[in-house]
Amino acid sequence: MGNVEGCIFCQIAQGKIPSDVVFETDKLIAFRDIHPKSPVHILIIPKNHVNARLDLTQQDVETLPEIFLAAKEITRKEGIGERGFRLIANVGPESGQEVDHLHFHILGGKRLGPM
Ligand code: 5GP
Ligand code: ZN
Repeated sequence: MGNVEGCIFCQIAQGKIPSDVVFETDKLIAFRDIHPKSPVHILIIPKNHVNARLDLTQQDVETLPEIFLAAKEITRKEGIGERGFRLIANVGPESGQEVDHLHFHILGGKRLGPM
């Protein structure tokens, strides 16, 4: 699946909505969260629309290793690779997920507490 009409993260991936991009490859893009919940709060998304219900195809899954390698690179650059960080994906209503385009949050830069 490519671009999904009305999806804010598809529009960010295409540069139609500006964002503070920190990392990019042909398959994924990472940018700072507009409402940061910690000193470092970055979102990593596949450029192609992948719904966030983990209703994944084989092609979607092939992007996942790159997301983890991107997280490694980004956290090193942000100076939190050694200090530690949280890498999370909200999935579905009870998680509080707002955007239905698969995304991983990198949260760090302070002690995060149990949740
Ligand atoms: P979710 O709750 O779906 O896991 O996370 C969605 C995240 O996207 C939220 O943390 C929210 O602040 C962020 N967000 C929503 N709209 C935008 C936007 O237009 N630009 C950026 N940079 N972040 C956004
Ligand atoms: Zn999308």
